[in-house]
Amino acid sequence: MPISAAVIGAGPAGIYAAEALARNVDGITIDITDRLPTPYGLVRAGVSPDHQSTKAVCRVLERTLKRDCVRLLGNVALGRDVSLDELREIYDIVILAQGAEEDRPLAIPGEDLPGVYGSMDVVGWYNAHPDHVRTRLHLERIRHVAVIGNGNVAIDVARVLNRTPEEMLPTDMPDYALDELRRSTIETTSVLGRRGPLEAAFTQQEITELQHMADANIIVRAEQIPASADGLPEKIRKAREANLRALRQYTEPPKGASRRIAFEFFARPVAFLGDDRLRSLRLERTRVNEGACEGTGEFFEIPCDMAVTCVGYRCTPLPGLTLDERGILPNEDGRIGDGVYVVGWAKRGPSGTIGANRSDSQDVVRIIAEDAGRLGGKPGGKALDTLLDRRGVETVDFAGWKRIEAAETAAAREGAPRRKLESIAEMVAIARGRA
Ligand SMILES: Cc1cc2nc3c(=O)[nH]c(=O)nc-3n(C[C@H](O)[C@H](O)[C@H](O)COP(=O)(O)OP(=O)(O)OC[C@H]3O[C@@H](n4cnc5c(N)ncnc54)[C@H](O)[C@@H]3O)c2cc1C
Repeated sequence: MPISAAVIGAGPAGIYAAEALARNVDGITIDITDRLPTPYGLVRAGVSPDHQSTKAVCRVLERTLKRDCVRLLGNVALGRDVSLDELREIYDIVILAQGAEEDRPLAIPGEDLPGVYGSMDVVGWYNAHPDHVRTRLHLERIRHVAVIGNGNVAIDVARVLNRTPEEMLPTDMPDYALDELRRSTIETTSVLGRRGPLEAAFTQQEITELQHMADANIIVRAEQIPASADGLPEKIRKAREANLRALRQYTEPPKGASRRIAFEFFARPVAFLGDDRLRSLRLERTRVNEGACEGTGEFFEIPCDMAVTCVGYRCTPLPGLTLDERGILPNEDGRIGDGVYVVGWAKRGPSGTIGANRSDSQDVVRIIAEDAGRLGGKPGGKALDTLLDRRGVETVDFAGWKRIEAAETAAAREGAPRRKLESIAEMVAIARGRA
């Protein structure tokens, strides 16, 4: 009996799951839907514009979208255009791969002050994600930025905000963001960690890359860097030693540059302060006791006109889906219920590289393949087409996406890979041959 599958979300996890299904389940047909007209999720909208070689993984993901048994249905949102119950009636297998697209709040006073942003907003802004192109991020008159968090996203945000416009010209950073870099008056960016360098989740590569910034000094306080990572579990010790080595290179007096990125460890934000907008950040000095962060009762303030919280993400709530206390979809090794599965960040939470989603999706598909014997017989994609048609949803197929891509490539600045379209309406018009 033919088997049909719907994958919700055309990010890496969804596409890797489709690839594994195509390889492992005979005669399957797979529809990958995405709420945006464009595929590739955070590879397009999260990975920094100055990391184009990472974004090149799209060429690998594209091979799956070109498979005969796979269809891309962009501009179709679960919860807006189709419900989970409807998908379950139409498809034998439903794989949820919608990622974790909402910023986790820091949950301290003042978080709603103008000037405080979540990293999804800032990253989406400098990556021209249609949800975030209208974020009012003005770097003129901003002098002090606080980037809160010690993962690679925090380093990305600190790095990109302190790039010169010239450094970003050969990337796909949108023109409006480049204009803000031109107007930027940022002097200091503090990268704040509640715990110490040994607990930081960033990687050596991201720290080392900072030394090549064209116009930013990197500052690390020598007294905050422990002599070694001895005592840490073996599986993380080497990586943490590498981080310490990478950080130590910035403890020397800095070279002349007009801005500074200063790492401040053992500092826990307790309140954003300001009247009509953010003016300063209040912090508590901490110490680490067996990996856990403890307040010392010593408080201090730093000036701050803009803060970006980079403390993780959670799934967007959708009708019919329960989230657990971490904000992800509760599951057992990827199984949610009869015929419904989850992969990627929606399954594991917001950690792991693009590649980590590949093995994770393969593991879930192994479980699906075991279940596949008792699945089959549902109407599949044609029934979804009828339903979407009736609702007037303008879907974007693979050929439509390639038209969007061609338009973006043709409009690129000299030396840049593409100029991303910013409006969904324009993307759909181009994809469907109306523009
Ligand atoms: C700022 C940032 C930078 C990163 N940089 C790197 C890096 O340099 N290297 C690296 O290896 N990893 C990086 N990562 C991690 C990597 O992006 C993730 O591991 C990966 O994208 C997670 O894949 P996913 O498919 O689960 O989610 P996503 O990539 O988020 O894909 C989810 C997809 O689902 C769609 N969707 C959401 N809601 C719906 C809905 N209701 N209906 C239909 N579709 C929906 C979204 O539009 C999106 O296309 C970065 C992550 C972030 C946040």
